[in-house]
Amino acid sequence: MDVDLHIHSTASDGSFTPHDILDRARALKLRAISITDHDTVDGVKEIMTPETTANPHVLSGVEISSTPPDQFDIPGNFHILGYGIRLEDPDLTRALHHVRQSRDDRNPRIISRLKSHGIDISMDEVNESSAGDVIGRPHIARVLVQKGCVSSIDEAFDRYLAKGRPCFEDKFRLDCQAAISVIRKAGGIAVLAHPVSLKTDKGTLESLLKVLKGMGLSGIEAYYSNHTPEDTEDYCSMAGKLDLIVTGGSDFHGSYKTNIQMGSGKGNLQVPYRVFERIIEHLGHKSPTH
Ligand code: AMP
Ligand code: ZN
Ligand code: FE
Ligand code: FE
Repeated sequence: MDVDLHIHSTASDGSFTPHDILDRARALKLRAISITDHDTVDGVKEIMTPETTANPHVLSGVEISSTPPDQFDIPGNFHILGYGIRLEDPDLTRALHHVRQSRDDRNPRIISRLKSHGIDISMDEVNESSAGDVIGRPHIARVLVQKGCVSSIDEAFDRYLAKGRPCFEDKFRLDCQAAISVIRKAGGIAVLAHPVSLKTDKGTLESLLKVLKGMGLSGIEAYYSNHTPEDTEDYCSMAGKLDLIVTGGSDFHGSYKTNIQMGSGKGNLQVPYRVFERIIEHLGHKSPTH
């Protein structure tokens, strides 16, 4: 039985509530999960209560969109995962709050771009259809689907919302040193998320990992829905060489990403339990689970 350490809840851009996630994880007999919402720990907080049991183990988590070190030109998505963080840490709380606030400026800019492309959509509609505090492009995409402007969330990104498309607006990102430091100061470990999404070659990735390790990075997400078995093998051996740990998860978003299932990704994902055990060892038994 395996684990899934990369899951989004309704606190960010997933469609499952934290309790739905817990139920599904139990049905799938997953032994450990982590909710890694974008820019918030509100979701995982809900299920890290004394009432929930160690079935499955719940590891605290967060995913932070970051900017890479200056010397690297990374065309893809550069995200840092934090595991085993103290959910009430004041510096982490402040940093995540700041990142979330910047979305409040960005979302209306996306909405006005859509309006200038003849689409009748308001921020109120987006707010109404979003459960948590972290509202982003997937929520806007879903409103576009509901209104019949596009037939799928993917089409909303492809036509309007993705980078390079006419209604794209970038968001504020924490620089990688700040993201890694705030995670570590909150008692957690920092991990480079979905290396395949960086869209860089493996030589560059290795140089990048060395620099990030110097900043305090502890691991690399070697197991991921979009990784081929060869990718996973390469990332595991890179981790071995650089003395990093490996982590893994599906990046489940429920109905926001219909091709990804919890626990199994696109069907073939398997994240071994020992990955979770190694994280716990690395956290120095700081009791991130219960
Ligand atoms: P945001 O944080 O508002 O910039 O939105 C980023 C999120 O949008 C990512 O974490 C993904 O969950 C989602 N996303 C990005 N590209 C796509 C796509 N082509 N189709 C569906 N979801 C996407
Ligand atoms: Zn997401
Ligand atoms: Fe990500
Ligand atoms: Fe994610």
